[in-house]
Amino acid sequence: SNRTFTMIKPDATGKGYTGAILNDIIKAGFTIKAMKWTKLTIDQAAEFYAIHKERPFFGELIEFMSSGPIVAAILEKNNAVNDFRKLIGATDPAKADEGTIRKKYASSVGENAVHGSDSDENALVESDFFFSKLERF
Ligand code: ATP
Repeated sequence: SNRTFTMIKPDATGKGYTGAILNDIIKAGFTIKAMKWTKLTIDQAAEFYAIHKERPFFGELIEFMSSGPIVAAILEKNNAVNDFRKLIGATDPAKADEGTIRKKYASSVGENAVHGSDSDENALVESDFFFSKLERF
């Protein structure tokens, strides 16, 4: 598919990196199809990350993701899911390639600046979580 879903996470919004990250995303050839600045409750974060509920870091993850504002967005580009995961780099910023968003803006494996969908199917599910049909033209 040609769409993916992203969030700029609370560590990055809190440090004032939102503009720089959006600039990197646009420069890499992605078009923003929908975008909102919002904040998740702990229950909403738990619902979004339900797939990770058995992982040892689940509690830490949902606390962090509800700790401050996020930017949610739908992005369009050829090969969007894979190209976006290349642009953001490895989950752990210490292992992320030079020039990737996580290398530039993330501080730890938990507080890693951005989310990117891992499949076309999840990109749709995650987009539906944040955006109505009217909001994603
Ligand atoms: P995302 O789904 O956010 O794009 P990812 O696919 O690179 O990230 P996952 O393994 O799916 O990574 O983990 C989801 C999120 O959970 C990570 O982005 C990170 O915020 C958090 N996380 C992953 N591993 C750890 C860990 N060991 N300790 C704390 N938080 C973690």
